[in-house]
Amino acid sequence: MSVEPLLREMLIKRSQQKKKTSPLNYKRRLFVLTKSQLAYYDGTAEKKSRRGFIELSRIRCAEIVKSGGETIPCANKYPFQIVYDTNTLYVFAPSNNSRSLWVQSLKEEIKDNPTILAKFHPQFWQEGAWLCCRQVEKLAPGCAEYNPFRDVSRKPLPPLPAQEGQNGKGQALPSPPDDEDGEEEEEEDEEVVVVALYDFPGTEPHDLRLVKGNEYIILENCDVNWFKARNKYGEEGYIPSNYVAERKSGNLAQFDWYSKHVNRNKAEELLKKENKEGGFIVRDSSTAGAYTVSLYGKSATGDGEAVIKHYHIKESPGPPQQFYLSEKYLFNSIPDLIEYHKHNAAGLVARLRYPSGKKSAPSTAGFSYDKWEINPSELTFMKQLGSGHFGNVRLGKWRAQHKVAIKIIREGAMLEEDFIEEAKVMMKLSHPKLVQLYGVCSQQKPMYIVTEFMEQGSLLNFLRLRRGGFSLGSLLSFCLDVCEGMEHLEANGFIHRDLAARNCLVNDSLVVKVSDFGMARYVLDDQYTSSSGAKFPVKWSPPEVFNFSKYSSKSDVWSFGVLMWEVFTEGLMPFEQNQNHEVVTLVTTGHRLFRPKMATPATYDIMQMCWHERPEERPSFYKLCTTISDTMEGEVPPLN
Ligand code: ADP
Repeated sequence: MSVEPLLREMLIKRSQQKKKTSPLNYKRRLFVLTKSQLAYYDGTAEKKSRRGFIELSRIRCAEIVKSGGETIPCANKYPFQIVYDTNTLYVFAPSNNSRSLWVQSLKEEIKDNPTILAKFHPQFWQEGAWLCCRQVEKLAPGCAEYNPFRDVSRKPLPPLPAQEGQNGKGQALPSPPDDEDGEEEEEEDEEVVVVALYDFPGTEPHDLRLVKGNEYIILENCDVNWFKARNKYGEEGYIPSNYVAERKSGNLAQFDWYSKHVNRNKAEELLKKENKEGGFIVRDSSTAGAYTVSLYGKSATGDGEAVIKHYHIKESPGPPQQFYLSEKYLFNSIPDLIEYHKHNAAGLVARLRYPSGKKSAPSTAGFSYDKWEINPSELTFMKQLGSGHFGNVRLGKWRAQHKVAIKIIREGAMLEEDFIEEAKVMMKLSHPKLVQLYGVCSQQKPMYIVTEFMEQGSLLNFLRLRRGGFSLGSLLSFCLDVCEGMEHLEANGFIHRDLAARNCLVNDSLVVKVSDFGMARYVLDDQYTSSSGAKFPVKWSPPEVFNFSKYSSKSDVWSFGVLMWEVFTEGLMPFEQNQNHEVVTLVTTGHRLFRPKMATPATYDIMQMCWHERPEERPSFYKLCTTISDTMEGEVPPLN
């Protein structure tokens, strides 16, 4: 690939503050754009040392930043943004022309990137919130449409600068001033040490084996799912990013007793299932920024009955700030507190003996970095799991040990070539609430699609088989699982198009995951793809879909409302008494599904928000996740 610079200019870069502790600063850097990367240097063109770079393939959006009237604390007043992976880099250009040129050139280079954003944030992320939409999650989905072709200021393109020189006039740029205090920038210079949370055997020669508890140095963030790392013997290779956590004080993710996303219900389910006195899990509490220890013990009444207690980790006002479960025992950190209570119950219902939660390793985004083609001779076939639009689904093993589901694509059932292209993008969609695509066997007929195996099968069957056996909390937690998976799709600008309980799967830990996302586009069957076809999912579709085939994340939100209804009726067919064409009339005239008996008014309110006639009035999945969590906390009373 060419390394000829497309653009070079001295610009100002805002520090990215990837860590809470990194300072906010603005530094002059020589930015150089080539066909493959955007790099920035310390110093002039002649005497420069590289401080960081971004591969263009990782960039998801390049756009100007709209000013909301805030003062820009550096000499250059024309900010633009580069969103890559999950980060946003802010750069300040000296003039509007210069900024347009950078944004336009970047847009040109990245427009075909598969992970390009559908929406972005037009204003700055500042002091813990997006100035444009006030969302407080850095990863919150964008709030404005992103145009991959033109910058939002829509100014005509300025003339191209001369190749020589950096400011378009053939003159050498002044040397950048020295770093004020010699401090390092946070990007490539700082060594990041991680600890392995799980064993990873490494499946290809270019992988690095991980041993749980060992430390590794990160050499390169290849993409969001894979890092290049080095072990203590100097061996290097690729590792899955979700198998490690940064080794630094204050990062609870590095401990096997901490599970961020486990809520009260899930914690109880896990602890009950393990049935071990002293089983415990530390999790984020419903109060933001606080933590809870959920602990399985035996009741004090002597009848030996199991109890689950949830203890808030309390903080003393300080200084020094200290943590405690029982006021008599204070500690400087949460890990110290846990360590102490591992050995001393000290007022708790048991001592903390068995960390629960991070038991089985999560799925990796493919079996190895950059690998989507699976060798069919490495697959063995076991029992049939079911059958769907594309053909039969079988349980199988990859390399004789890794259980997988294998879809055997019936000839003529799928637009195979289009799917194979898309599969590379789908593989990168990796999330604990999405059924992972591991790869394809595309060099043969029939083609195979290999995915994560989900022991309990489809959510719809699961609900029907166990009808009457669900608590309110567990029904809500199924909905929350799906909502979290969908939030990840939404954040990546990916539309499901056929969300329904039949397209979600359940595993042995009773986690529900979204499956078959985007697959509707590759079905070769008019009865399914045409909105008047008998198999078209009309009952899950909003008006803009059955009328105009207008799909969006908001049409997925409508389907999600119907899925919630399926969950709370434990698997009834929506509009059971009606044919598809009748449903079109009903919905168009304002009718909606009734409130299931098990759904409280608050839960039914959530469904109804999803069924707003106007797509823009429906909440985002991001908002829905918070609403469902809040409802769970409200409806499932605490135990202590
Ligand atoms: P298709 O995409 O061809 O319509 P589905 O994904 O709906 O096929 O699969 C059909 C059935 O096979 C599902 O209802 C489920 O019972 C079973 N199945 C599919 N994928 C898996 C999996 N990953 N794990 C376990 N069972 C699965």
